[in-house]
Amino acid sequence: MQFTSPQFKENSAGALVDPQLQKALKNVEKGFVEKRAMAAAAMPEFDALRDRGRDIKNHTLEHLDLYLDVYEKKVTASGGIVHWAESAEDARQIILKICQSVNAKTVTKGKSMITEEINLNEFLESQGIEPVETDLGEYIIQLRGEHPSHIIAPAVHLNKEQVEADFRRVHTHLDANRDLSEPVSLLAEARAVLRKRYFQADVGITGANFLIAETGSSVIVTNEGNGDMTQTLGKVHVVVASIEKMVPTLEDCSQILRILARSATGQDMSVYTTFSTGPKRAEDPDGPDQYHVVLLDNGRTSMLGTEFQDMLRCIRCGACINHCPVYHAIGGHAYGSVYPGPMGAVLTPSLFGIDQSAHLPNASTFCGRCESVCPMRIPLPKMMRNWREREFERHLTPATARYGLGVWAFFAKRPKLYRAASSLGMRALSILGGARHRIRSLPLATGWTKYRDLPAPEGGTFVQQWAARQAAKQED
Ligand code: SF4
Repeated sequence: MQFTSPQFKENSAGALVDPQLQKALKNVEKGFVEKRAMAAAAMPEFDALRDRGRDIKNHTLEHLDLYLDVYEKKVTASGGIVHWAESAEDARQIILKICQSVNAKTVTKGKSMITEEINLNEFLESQGIEPVETDLGEYIIQLRGEHPSHIIAPAVHLNKEQVEADFRRVHTHLDANRDLSEPVSLLAEARAVLRKRYFQADVGITGANFLIAETGSSVIVTNEGNGDMTQTLGKVHVVVASIEKMVPTLEDCSQILRILARSATGQDMSVYTTFSTGPKRAEDPDGPDQYHVVLLDNGRTSMLGTEFQDMLRCIRCGACINHCPVYHAIGGHAYGSVYPGPMGAVLTPSLFGIDQSAHLPNASTFCGRCESVCPMRIPLPKMMRNWREREFERHLTPATARYGLGVWAFFAKRPKLYRAASSLGMRALSILGGARHRIRSLPLATGWTKYRDLPAPEGGTFVQQWAARQAAKQED
């Protein structure tokens, strides 16, 4: 995808005045949030499982080299092959070689954010190999030449009418008078079109929700069964996964699975949870002849041992995105990166550099909802603050903000002067607010007053009010 995080402000301005997008985003704000709340409330041990999930992932990250090694040995013992990819380009070249080795013309794909991260579709197309997305949401956005706007609901920014128009535009071999007015008819059409593609594909590419060191298995969690068709019907199954998807044991995996779907869609479990271990064995009725795992680093090891290591606990449930008021206002494409919302605000600078994505850690109200719902208890606001600090240190913060903070620091180091200046400033703003107690425009605050009035301060400063309360308490 085209990386447009540096244009985050322009992207957001466009998203805010897009009425169709604004309507679609209401589905995220309501549906996902209510369903997650109900699922969590119905499970008394939900918070205990969150603690357990955090501990499992922390332990795994502390010993990641060990578990990766064990995992590779287990995959090899089951007849599969592990490929190590340090960068996105390494991963693309490895996948290309696998495809070329079986003269692949078409590959089917299960939903995978990692393949989005490495721009796999564009690359395969440039090499004369057709990638076919088989997850319904991914299929829809592939027809439109778009990228996911949400990590678990890639087409959440679209409505039914748009999908119908796309199907009519692309599926020209079907009856022009067919009824596509209901979602179920759209689903049936996509299913019929895609079913043929599974049998044409030479290679099936999936991501992995988990990699299990104990057994050398990869695990995918889906609701449509498309991932299972993708990985069993092609001659070759390629799993593309980042290294932090590792968990030590099947038991660890099952513990985290209990909070994954509940946090994501509010389901007790996703419809399909599929464990794959190696290629087809002699006694298996079906399955791929070859099983490859491409293990991608792409900047993750440089997060280990830093203040951003906790981010590697992420299981891509999307709960932080679903609860983010900024995402609710602008949707996913405005972030200009593969990963939107709070998790993207931390992960994107880690993977692509703060120079290119400095706006993202600032795209937060710091309400804390993301951290409060994260099943892996990732301290997202804290890490966004860490990125803001790095941004400030590297002079990437706008000059006005830097000078503003410098002025504030000057006064903050001199408490008496600070109190006098804040009292004076408050009185001036109060006068500016007039009888309405609202300020229409204010230099240095135009980012606010361009869209709404600034409430004028009333009463005393914080220190004055605190002193008054203490005095009142003493009188009592
Ligand atoms: S940061 Fe937490 S809430 Fe957000 S996607 Fe990752 S695991 Fe889910």
